[in-house]
Amino acid sequence: MATMRVAQVSRPNGPFEIVERPIPEPGAGSVRVKVHACGVCHSDSVTKEGLLPGIQYPRVPGHEVAGVIDAVGPGVAGWQPGQRVGVGWNGGYCGYCDYCRRGEFFACERGQTTGVTFDGGYGEYLIAPASAVARMPAELSPVEAGPLMCAGLTTFNALRNSDARPGDLVAVLGLGGLGHLGVQYAAKMGFRTVGIARGKDKEPLARQLGASVYIDNQAQDAAAELVKLGGAKVILATVTSGEAMSAVQGGVAVNGTLLLLGVPSESIQVSPIVLFQGRRSVKGWNTGTSIDSQDTLAFSVQTGVRPMTETYPLERVAEAYDRMMSGKASFRVVLTIGR
Ligand SMILES: [Zn+2]
Ligand SMILES: [Zn+2]
Repeated sequence: MATMRVAQVSRPNGPFEIVERPIPEPGAGSVRVKVHACGVCHSDSVTKEGLLPGIQYPRVPGHEVAGVIDAVGPGVAGWQPGQRVGVGWNGGYCGYCDYCRRGEFFACERGQTTGVTFDGGYGEYLIAPASAVARMPAELSPVEAGPLMCAGLTTFNALRNSDARPGDLVAVLGLGGLGHLGVQYAAKMGFRTVGIARGKDKEPLARQLGASVYIDNQAQDAAAELVKLGGAKVILATVTSGEAMSAVQGGVAVNGTLLLLGVPSESIQVSPIVLFQGRRSVKGWNTGTSIDSQDTLAFSVQTGVRPMTETYPLERVAEAYDRMMSGKASFRVVLTIGR
């Protein structure tokens, strides 16, 4: 029987184990993807550390998958072997629950999560529901496409669904894995883009990515600086510090939004007066579905947006994961697999 190598976790907080398994056959409504690259995302800690109840182990993490369909299960329409595809965090939706019937596929009651409720992309193959699959353009390499399936999707989809219009001031808080993509998308969408990060040394990077203004929130009061610029229609908060998120709320413009993408473990503090006086809001954004990923990849090709990556072969998954968790990677860690 043909086998494949995967990197699995056997229990919460357990180590990565490289194991051989039989190559699985796709069931009804699913496709098998031969994985070429898989990004290592902070949300993979959900599986690695066991942060959600009900995860069944052993489990293979990974939801920034780029590869090629190599088999389709019964009843799958529209997908064939040989198509280049990506699979993201949203691991498919049922299409018939009340949320799906209202078009809110991200909130599907039977929705699955790649690398959490079924095995993800830290391996040579994975089986994914057809509704979880996005077309990957030929112009993108698998290493480039992987991080766009989650970090790219999240920032792109949050911005394009926000109230900001071309010419509006949009600030991106944080210049890490999410933020370095957020700045690029904001600039390419035609927003006056402000990059906010800690330290003067990040300024050249922010400008290179497309920011026209840079704020060092270690040395400057970011909220006050944004007010001087007229206030930000959207502040895209990509950091994982609740304190840093709380500190910028005063820089949101009238009718503007503090849009939360990062997931700090602590709460944020919001002033009711800030919300009330300027009709401001605080909102979270939950990535997107496969068609949103597909749009993210296409827009990235069209405008030249690319992630900056560090690559590791699958065998070095533990090192790759630690590097991602250290927060020191520049900027997305990607596993290269097979070929
Ligand atoms: Zn992710
Ligand atoms: Zn549903």
